[in-house]
Amino acid sequence: MPDYFAEVDVLRNGDSAGNGMTLQLTDGHGRRIHTVAVPQEGHSHTGPTWAYIFENQGLTLIDPGAEASFEVLRSGMALCGLQASDIERVIITHGHADHDGGVARVIDQSGAELWAHDIYQPLLPFDPRDLQMSANSPIKEAMWETARANGFSPSDSDERNRYMESRRSHQVGHHIIHGEQQGILRYMHAPGHSPDEICAVIGNGTGSDIVFTGDHVLPEISPHPTMKTDYTREMRQSLPVHYQDPDDSYGLLTYLRSLQRVADLGMAVAILPAHRLYNNHKFNFQTAQRAADLIRFHNRRLGRILVTAGPEPQPLEDVTRRTFERRKLEGGNFFAALTEVVAHVELLEDSGDMEITDDHRLRRTGRENYQELLRAL
Ligand SMILES: [Zn+2]
Ligand SMILES: [Zn+2]
Repeated sequence: MPDYFAEVDVLRNGDSAGNGMTLQLTDGHGRRIHTVAVPQEGHSHTGPTWAYIFENQGLTLIDPGAEASFEVLRSGMALCGLQASDIERVIITHGHADHDGGVARVIDQSGAELWAHDIYQPLLPFDPRDLQMSANSPIKEAMWETARANGFSPSDSDERNRYMESRRSHQVGHHIIHGEQQGILRYMHAPGHSPDEICAVIGNGTGSDIVFTGDHVLPEISPHPTMKTDYTREMRQSLPVHYQDPDDSYGLLTYLRSLQRVADLGMAVAILPAHRLYNNHKFNFQTAQRAADLIRFHNRRLGRILVTAGPEPQPLEDVTRRTFERRKLEGGNFFAALTEVVAHVELLEDSGDMEITDDHRLRRTGRENYQELLRAL
């Protein structure tokens, strides 16, 4: 347990992954933060979404979690002596179904105001998955060839369609911008896992702060970075002027820069993540050190991919299979592993360390400029 939380009271136990668990955290200043582990829809290896509820200019909820698990959130809040109808503000860390899926239910019950990053609302009509799939670079073409050869094709589920339908109805009442201060919270834009990702920091920088990290920084697992993308003309027209360049919101380098923002908060800052706060019968209370660890993890992975590709051109599939252990390549995991390798290759292409041959294989150029890029984060 970190020194930061003076008390951690378990108000409800969950299963071994924490599903349903409800906690009351008290920090060194006597400030109380309640949290409920809201189960995901269907199986997910990331585990439940930890919804955080506390007082800040009115009762504030960060991430209601999946729509189908609203009753778990409500009953957990009741154990904390809180009513869903009293929520005044719902803050969304980013637009993924396991975070904002329950928004409509909470707002229905409470009339709360929806807060999300400035780029969240303009992106709502577009499926985040489709945005990642546009094939307009040789490496993306290689990705599709590899995916097809392995029997992968993107499919729509009823669950997915329902989510897309519901998120189109979200109305953001307050658009968050980077650096904004509101009561005890300071907001940071942290794009990379998702273009609209925000972190919210409690405290005044005296070394006793807390940061809610959403999916940007997680214990135990490394959050999935986005690949680069291109905006259609329709999208460009709906995006605020500051966010016209997709490279500012997507890709591994963008993700690493956002990780550095959290690492810069200092190692005494406690993180409250959206997943894995508890798992496998133990708590994962960590500090902003975790962000620095994740940067080192990607640094090692970049080096490994470079070595794996070697001077002779290699197929993307071989590089992917040599980068991940076998169990992370099984079934639907293969596509996630593949896109993660593509995100790394995109950075190595930009740094001039790797090139894609005409027949879509990967070749090491012999340079290692990526280290320089990482030093300058
Ligand atoms: Zn996410
Ligand atoms: Zn998530």
